[in-house]
Amino acid sequence: MIDVVLVVNSGSSSLKFALYPVSTEVTEPLMVGKVIRIGTDPQLMASIGHEALTVTEPFDHIPKDATHEWLITNLLERLYSRYVSFHPVAAGHRVVHGGSEFHQPIVINDDNMEILKSYIPLAPLHQQHCLAAIQAITDHSPELPQVACFDTAFHHTQNRLEKIYAIPRKYTEDELIRYGFHGISYQYIASCLSANLGKKADGKVIVAHLGNGSSMCALHNKRSVATSMGFSTLDGLIMGTRCGSIDAGLILNLLNEKGLSVDEVQDILYNQSGLLGVSGISNNMRILAESDDPKAKEAIELFCYRAVKEIGSQIAVMGGLDAIVFTAGIGENSALIRKLICEPLAWLGVELDDNANENNHTKISSDQSTIDVHIIPTNEQAMIAISTCDLIDTEIQTFNRKSA
Ligand code: ADP
Repeated sequence: MIDVVLVVNSGSSSLKFALYPVSTEVTEPLMVGKVIRIGTDPQLMASIGHEALTVTEPFDHIPKDATHEWLITNLLERLYSRYVSFHPVAAGHRVVHGGSEFHQPIVINDDNMEILKSYIPLAPLHQQHCLAAIQAITDHSPELPQVACFDTAFHHTQNRLEKIYAIPRKYTEDELIRYGFHGISYQYIASCLSANLGKKADGKVIVAHLGNGSSMCALHNKRSVATSMGFSTLDGLIMGTRCGSIDAGLILNLLNEKGLSVDEVQDILYNQSGLLGVSGISNNMRILAESDDPKAKEAIELFCYRAVKEIGSQIAVMGGLDAIVFTAGIGENSALIRKLICEPLAWLGVELDDNANENNHTKISSDQSTIDVHIIPTNEQAMIAISTCDLIDTEIQTFNRKSA
């Protein structure tokens, strides 16, 4: 029997899950899977196994109307009945919002679950799905400890000026502030920095998490100083279908002059903008990079232009730069995007080694470059597994000390 941690990442229309061996170091998962298109036409995308434990079909049949709760309950039933060689000792969740309260992963209990529910209005499209997954596991296996890891928590080290908007104080006091997201990814990258950058790891580093959702984080001493996402995951860089930073006056225009409803504007900003909106072709960077259409080219150029602008702003608030790290789907795989972002930074002393960049090497800057440029693959699931094991271990030790 292998003790495992179930890692759950519950998105608005997807559910990613993985089983990790109990460890406080990065390990390979024993099983991973992903259900997409929940709510419309759910499909199990992938599940891989490890050694003799290969699993190809954790769900026998997924009904069209399967909810996150159904999928989680069904997954647990399979684990307990069919994959008996796995013994779940805890579940770790990616939870999008920890508000101002939670700066570290927490063990879920009734009290903090209530606080997390109160954050649903802060992230209406995501928080409820994270909490639904936690509740489904509580209902099915109340004895299984559960840990929540927050996308916002890593940014709590930022100073107040980075966090507040210039709006009437009563709204700031009502927690309408800049939280920042992708924190689990940044925490993972921060944990790898010393191994990759040596002494520069404790210097001024910009991490560019460029995926379907994209953001950047300025790290000093491996702590978050500034980040491009703000109150919501709409802010900052251009994304697959999200607009990134936008003048609030434009939103007022869509509502008041174009006569669009709030729901329509929300759909435009979250689902119809970004690379998809500008190109009119796709939200997928790989497809755009392969296209000859000038609109695809413009979408790519705008994506990179805004990334360079964000780098400039983060250098200014940090007062310098030692290294840039690219991560996530685009950051890890697209030599073109890395090149288009790094070339305009030549004035700063950034120079890529073209061969290293083309071949996705770990270090892609040339020996002459004054700024190190690296690719570090992110691993949010492993980070959640590690945080969960750490916390469960601490809880058990505290419990043992108390009862001794
Ligand atoms: P998510 O935010 O959904 O986790 P990912 O980090 O998986 O997204 O990134 C998905 C993005 O990465 C897509 O736009 C995809 O096209 C892009 N991508 C992956 N591989 C490449 C590649 N070789 N070239 C360009 N883009 C790529």
